[in-house]
Parts: sequence; structure tokens; C-alpha cells
Amino acid sequence: MLVDCTPPPGRGGRLIMESVTCNLCGSSESRPVFDMPDTKFFPDEWFTVVECVKCGLGFVNPRPSRAEIGRHYPADYYDYLAPELHQQRYANEAQYIERYASPGHHRRLLDVGCANGDFPRFMKARGWAVEGVEVSATTVPVTDFPIHRAEFPDARLQPDSFDVVTAWAVLEHVHDPMAYFVRAHEVLAPGGAFIFTVPNFASLASRRLYREDPPRHLYYYTEATVSAYLERTGLRYETSVHGNDVYEMLPTHWLRYYLQYRWRGAPMRYTDLPESPESYFARRGLAPSLTSRARYALTHPFTVVDALTRPLHERWSMARRNYGIVTFVARKPRDRA
Ligand SMILES: [Zn+2]
Repeated sequence: MLVDCTPPPGRGGRLIMESVTCNLCGSSESRPVFDMPDTKFFPDEWFTVVECVKCGLGFVNPRPSRAEIGRHYPADYYDYLAPELHQQRYANEAQYIERYASPGHHRRLLDVGCANGDFPRFMKARGWAVEGVEVSATTVPVTDFPIHRAEFPDARLQPDSFDVVTAWAVLEHVHDPMAYFVRAHEVLAPGGAFIFTVPNFASLASRRLYREDPPRHLYYYTEATVSAYLERTGLRYETSVHGNDVYEMLPTHWLRYYLQYRWRGAPMRYTDLPESPESYFARRGLAPSLTSRARYALTHPFTVVDALTRPLHERWSMARRNYGIVTFVARKPRDRA
């Protein structure tokens, strides 16, 4: 269903968005959870994240269609892709693979959403036969291993042909996650592992502190909704890790939320968030020097206390298994029912 979302004159923005039902259970009943803009590229364009009343899946609704989402991924979105910045992350990801690949496997890895192919290349150097899937055309050519330029569900892949399928921070970006879980089950060899990282919609950072990234993040998962996807697609939940070893989601403004909003029962809106140092510097024409940082600290003392105490909340939420980022391990059963 298409919805006319033409903004008022002078506000810019898109003309048409699509309205969708729940990707997990099919229900059309949902309730709004929060509104926030595209903070990276279009601060005047706002999106509503809703939650399915029946199963709890979170999603942007209405949302940019596949045809329209490309403008939210301009070339500079990929500026972070310098491989030397990510060696520690790749090593951490490799540990998941070595730990959860089934005994007697053949070291065949498929990385979904592999961007420039740096992670599969890292694993190739460790003796794995690697392939990648990447729908984006903005990445550099990959010639040292097979790369499928398609969405995962449409890529030409053999069934039962991989020991591990990985998707690091991918499933929150796609328009049809169910098709991704179905395909992961199909291309995994019996006993193979599907290892993926997604933001945690049950966490304070995702749900209350506006640390998500709509409309690039289209889907918002919890332990319960991931488990439901796995059950629906024949995969078996094995374990999950709440931590920042792959990606992090900083609970910025956590203390403010607790002191000013949570115990009053008032929702903290996106517009209630205090100004960031970057925006403060830009508004006053300051270069980000020690002096300007000190000025920010003096004028925003609470925000500084909040930032200093943030690691406490991070450690606490990891220990309680409610951090903003979760890595899941699922397995395709050997007994194929
Ligand atoms: Zn649902």
C-alpha cells in the first residue's frame, strides 16, 4: 500500500512511502514507539518506528520503498570502510566462526552484506573458502573470490553449500528479513551456523535514547522476535552474546533518561535531547579545540556527567543481557524435518 507523505512546502523530502504489515507474523496492527529523523543525511525527514501488537517486531512504517531507499545511502555513508580500522572487529568476528562452525566442517563461508569484501578476505587468509553477497554498487571491485551482486534471497547460490553464513549488521537494513532467514536456512549445509549481529530493540539505547538509524534501519529485533524468525524458518537458536565486540551502541543520555523521564513516566522525545558538541561548535563557529570543549562542558555539565558514567550503564546492560547490540548464533539442524 502506498501512502502520500508529501511534506509541507519548504520542508523538502520524499513524495511517496510504502505502508507494510508485520514481516514476521503478517499482522496489520501496530503501535508507534518513537519518531526520529534521518540524523545522518536528511534531518528534516522524520520516520515512525512502530511495534507489531501481536509479535513485538519493530519496523519503520511507512517506509521508503526499495526504489527510494538508495538516496539514504549516499557514497559518504561508506566512508567508514577503511579495512585497517576494522582488524580487531574482523578478529572478533572470526572467533565466532571458529567457535561455532560444526565439527568436521569444510571451511566454506558466505558473508552477506560484505561491502568491499574485507571480512571474507580476512577469513580467506585464514584458510576459508569464501564468497560474498553485496547489493550495493558503491563498493570497489572484488576479484579475489566470488561476490554475488544481488540481494541475498536473489543471489545464485547452491543449497546446502556453506558451513557458516554471516550477516554483520545487515538484517536491520533489509526490506524483507523473512526472505533472508529462509535463504540462510536453504544455503547452509546441515549442521551449519548462521551468525548475525543486530541492534536490540529491547535495550534502552535502541528503544528510548534514539541511537537507532532510521530509515537505514528498517527492522528492530529482540531476542523474542529473532527466536520467532528462527523457528518459522527451521533454524535452531543456539546462543546470543550481548556486547560491543562487533559493533557498539552507546547509551548516550542514559542518566538524563533515568533522572528526568523514566521515573516521571514521561516519554523523552527526540527533540528533548541536548545539543551534541559537534552541533554546539557548528552553531557558534568554534573549531573543536580543548578550549571549545571546555566551553561545551561548562555550559552542558549534565551531559558531561552522563558521558562519564555511560560505561557503567554499558557494563550493566551487557551483564543483564540487554545491551544495544546482540550477536546471535543459530544452526540448521542435521535431522531435516
Ligand atoms: Zn508481528
